[in-house]
Amino acid sequence: MASCLFCEIRDGKIPAKRVYEDDACLGFDDIQPQAPTHVLLIPRLHVATVNDLTPENAALVGRLFLAAAQVARERGLSERGYRLVVNTHRDANQTVFHLHVHLIGGRAMKWPPG
Ligand code: AMP
Ligand code: ZN
Repeated sequence: MASCLFCEIRDGKIPAKRVYEDDACLGFDDIQPQAPTHVLLIPRLHVATVNDLTPENAALVGRLFLAAAQVARERGLSERGYRLVVNTHRDANQTVFHLHVHLIGGRAMKWPPG
């Protein structure tokens, strides 16, 4: 596999501000935050996109959401709300091909998204 930015962050080869860790997932601050809270939750396992998930990954996807909810709780965002985003391929502007959930919060957001 060609080198992957988020695998390198997972392995500590590229620095990131880690805000969440468990046996399955890692959370770190987005380098270009779009809101007061902008955390990326990734599986430790390299999966490129939602398209590449298999039934064996089902629990892992649940773990990502649980991790996001925990970070949101720690930031006091549970009640006021937040947004989870998973961009997939070109039309959604996916730029890093290691599955990640954006946790975005701390400001009011518009719908529909751009
Ligand atoms: P996406 O467009 O959904 O693939 O999101 C990729 C995200 O990764 C973007 O929000 C980038 O700002 C973020 N990003 C890129 N490089 C880094 C990095 N070295 N550390 C943290 N976040 C990064
Ligand atoms: Zn990766």
